[in-house]
Amino acid sequence: CRSRVVHAGGDATGKVLELDVSAMVKANPNITVLEHAFLNDVVVRDGHVAGVRLSVRDAKGGVRPRVVTAERVILATGGAGRLYPYTTNPSVATGDGLAAALRAGAQVADLEFYQFHPTAMAIGEHFLVSEAVRGEGAVLLDEHGHRFMTDIDPKAELAPRDVVARANFRTMQAQGGKPVMLDVSPMAKENPDLAEFLRHRFPTIDAYTRELGFDWSKEPIPVAPAAHYWMGGIRTDLFGRSSIPGLYAAGECARTGVQGANRLASNSLLEGMVYGYRAGLAAASDRADATWRPQDFDNSEIPGLPVCQKPMTIHTTAARDAMVRPWDRTHIENTMWRHVGVIRTGESLATAVAELGAGLAAANAEYHDGTSAAEYAQAVTEWENRNLLTVGYAAAIAANNRCESRGAHTRQDYPTHNPTIAHSIGYVMA
Ligand SMILES: Cc1cc2nc3c(=O)[nH]c(=O)nc-3n(C[C@H](O)[C@H](O)[C@H](O)COP(=O)(O)OP(=O)(O)OC[C@H]3O[C@@H](n4cnc5c(N)ncnc54)[C@H](O)[C@@H]3O)c2cc1C
Repeated sequence: CRSRVVHAGGDATGKVLELDVSAMVKANPNITVLEHAFLNDVVVRDGHVAGVRLSVRDAKGGVRPRVVTAERVILATGGAGRLYPYTTNPSVATGDGLAAALRAGAQVADLEFYQFHPTAMAIGEHFLVSEAVRGEGAVLLDEHGHRFMTDIDPKAELAPRDVVARANFRTMQAQGGKPVMLDVSPMAKENPDLAEFLRHRFPTIDAYTRELGFDWSKEPIPVAPAAHYWMGGIRTDLFGRSSIPGLYAAGECARTGVQGANRLASNSLLEGMVYGYRAGLAAASDRADATWRPQDFDNSEIPGLPVCQKPMTIHTTAARDAMVRPWDRTHIENTMWRHVGVIRTGESLATAVAELGAGLAAANAEYHDGTSAAEYAQAVTEWENRNLLTVGYAAAIAANNRCESRGAHTRQDYPTHNPTIAHSIGYVMA
């Protein structure tokens, strides 16, 4: 029997991978690295990729637009956790590649499936408090000190991610948005010197909680569910090819389909290391007229049931109201959390579609290539907000269309599976 999950550097697998790959890239004379370059758009000519439109930071902190021509482009821009106020993702996770692919006309799928991790620190940078802490015996408490998970699932705090995330979300809603508390005191039974045990067993979390002013060996810490991993993305075949010839996608921005509706922990390694590698091979060796060969969307509950393979169209609107100003980040995050968050309803999603659509129209109307911007950093924030509105709007439409609960997508108005739609749905943006 082999472990499903591989680790490197103790609890620093991602860091080890990133440092190793960065070193390989730097050592390869065939690779030119362009630092401080923001991908604005993918250029498509006559139905084939022709390059990318970038904005490069100049020496004075201003913006220099640049077009790089290329017959093959691989997008590897990561997720979009910054759609939400609570996320474990870094600040660069703003869905830029996915938004650029949507604007270029690429097909996307499964955008309604966003995995929320149940326990991120509710304050600070929403540092992830891993499942291993609950595995060692930590329990979740509401504001009255009640251990609510035992009422919800026989596995209590060790129930699957989506179950615990929903329970935490509902408990927070019931207590006016206040975070739930993670209490590690049950571990003291087997570890009388709890502070020492925590320092040794969870060095990174221990240091971080102390930095925030908590002594978690003596008091529970506030946690909340947080956007963690997007199962959906740019639809690719199993070699990273997208629906646009010459455009490839790999990593979290891609939707290979292997994550289903609810990824298992650590399976993003698969997207990066296996499908990233395959995308690289395909981009290097595909003939100019190569096209993708996507897996069909299959119904996983009723084998043989015909499934529509054609993508649905996402329509954007023109800005009708000149008074609608482009949204700031807080506005986007709060709208997504309230309406397209851990638990959704049709009414709430319809509101999100209308509001995000108007926000996107305003952002599109104000879009500029950056040459007029005072500084690069400010321009990047505006572009990222527009991209978040683009992918958030698409996610709201996909979530509104899926009238059932499945995997990470929970509809209060449709609490069960609908076996007739046990399949992915593709979308393209008009
Ligand atoms: C706290 C945390 C813990 C995790 N733990 C695990 C784990 O244990 N196991 C596991 O398998 N997965 C884990 N994951 C998930 C995994 O880390 C991610 O899915 C994975 O790192 C995504 O890799 P990526 O290469 O697709 O994107 P990223 O690593 O996010 O890289 C994207 C890159 O694209 C750049 N970029 C983005 N937009 C632009 C733009 N417009 N222009 C130019 N560049 C751009 C970014 O700067 C970044 O360098 C974890 C995630 C988090 C947040």
